[in-house]
Amino acid sequence: MTDEGFLAVEDVSKWYGDEQVLHDVSFEMGAGDVTVLIGPSGSGKSTMLRCVNRLAEAQEGSIRLDGVDVLDPGTDVNELRREVGMVFQGFNLFAHLTAVGNVALGPRRVLGLSKSDAMERAREELERVGLGDQFDSYPAELSGGQQQRVGIARALAMGPKLMLFDEPTSALDPELIGEVLSVMHDLVDDGMTMLVVTHEMSFARAVADEIVFLDNGRVVERGPPEQLFERPEHDRTGRFLERIA
Ligand code: ADP
Ligand code: MG
Repeated sequence: MTDEGFLAVEDVSKWYGDEQVLHDVSFEMGAGDVTVLIGPSGSGKSTMLRCVNRLAEAQEGSIRLDGVDVLDPGTDVNELRREVGMVFQGFNLFAHLTAVGNVALGPRRVLGLSKSDAMERAREELERVGLGDQFDSYPAELSGGQQQRVGIARALAMGPKLMLFDEPTSALDPELIGEVLSVMHDLVDDGMTMLVVTHEMSFARAVADEIVFLDNGRVVERGPPEQLFERPEHDRTGRFLERIA
């Protein structure tokens, strides 16, 4: 899809105290696009994602999402977070709620759906992530991969226009990574707009419209996966890719 500027990040800078962790970061994506952020630990990937839903505050630059000025002090942060789903490395499910209970919580409490409508939506989203047979399971009864899929369903249940994924498979045993990547792949096929931090390079290569390589809080290089993986323009990009390959 061609609507460049659905998400437009322009010259974003951020400091924690005296330490500048993002330096004039810019990239943009169209609706339905998938952008994968890569880079070494501490390069600012999580901070960049968190600036998009204002879990972290960018002090300079601009972020526009579907026409909304994200950093404007007048922007309704709660509305923004309803529209931007986030999936973290840890699953953060409520242990005392079933899969359906976890997924229905946001629609019920935040969107104000009736209990039965919220449960119905939760069941639909659990079906979508392949957990149609686990509605009533508690997190402790699910594998890590299943728990992460509940986390994805929980984010989807809010009807987000953008999904942020921050190393969604990093906490998983290797044999459970595939099922989570497969669900993410289905979302791509459904046209979801996704900004993903991952070290899963074959996934990135398969689904990304653009790869953004961050190092020390700066965009070193960005481009389509073929270009970035086959013909990186910068030595630093090539060295990073060799290291994680
Ligand atoms: P990445 O996700 O690429 O590993 P982060 O965005 O987590 O990188 O971190 C970027 C830099 O910001 C690191 O130097 C990290 O120590 C620092 N940082 C991240 N979060 C905080 C915080 N809440 N307070 C202070 N420094 C932080
Ligand atoms: Mg991180």
